[in-house]
Amino acid sequence: MKQKIMAVVILVFCLGFYLPAQQNPPKITLVPVAGPVYVLQGGGGNIGIVADPAGIFMIDAMMEPVIGQIREAIKVQPGGERVRVLVNTHWHSDHTDGNKALGPGAVIIAHENVRTLLAKDQTLMGGQTKALPANALPGVTFSDKLTVYAGGEAIRLVHFPHAHTDGDTVVFLDGLKVVHMGDMFFNGMFPFLDVANGGDIDGWVRQLDIILGALPADTKIIPGHGPLAGIADLKAFRDMLAASADLVRKQMKAGKTMDEIKAAGVPDNLAAWAKGFLKAPQWLELVYRSLEKGADR
Ligand SMILES: [Zn+2]
Repeated sequence: MKQKIMAVVILVFCLGFYLPAQQNPPKITLVPVAGPVYVLQGGGGNIGIVADPAGIFMIDAMMEPVIGQIREAIKVQPGGERVRVLVNTHWHSDHTDGNKALGPGAVIIAHENVRTLLAKDQTLMGGQTKALPANALPGVTFSDKLTVYAGGEAIRLVHFPHAHTDGDTVVFLDGLKVVHMGDMFFNGMFPFLDVANGGDIDGWVRQLDIILGALPADTKIIPGHGPLAGIADLKAFRDMLAASADLVRKQMKAGKTMDEIKAAGVPDNLAAWAKGFLKAPQWLELVYRSLEKGADR
């Protein structure tokens, strides 16, 4: 039964804000970030774009049915008639399903673990994600980091292992003080944590500490989900992850079961994070499963 509930949660999560286009198309909005960088919101994980006369550099691809709206929204930008390079920050379908529409015309870049997962059918907590066709798979992969040049900027792709998944890429535009965090950052809400594919609550906190230690104080941060953010928002998210891990770990050490920990819930300072995909019990279950797996690693 719990598996079934989680499967529903994951399906809702994986589809993000997507609704079938013929019923009620989500509204896609294009928000300026800095210089040639914009964020597209409303049809899945946030997309970042860097306008370039040679063609758009795009970070994440939302869902296939909204790609028509995406093309419409970006066509007024320099190079906006063509998506030339697409980065997948991780494998989840609300960030990669749009590869099916964009892949035939773009070079897709991703961490090597992302390509491996996208090339095969995946079952995630009972939900199914079909393997992508060959022309929608990343054509370029990397293991640690890669620099791509577009829009007059050196764009650094860096892999951060064992965080939201084990294939998370963060995209740094140092010259503009902009960063796209992928799903390593859900702004203002409890995130999904893909324990089955190498996600790890403690690793996630450690990786965010590394990132926060390197970013200038006035950095503009594009989260995987939620509105455009600043350093204080990312720090608050990091602190919520750490507090959640401590909360669950203490109870595990005291011999509490997962059900008891879920029933005990979260203190008031964490309750405000339950306004997104996940409510507190679902989030506590993910944290529990991560700590349980971490303990026997
Ligand atoms: Zn994700």
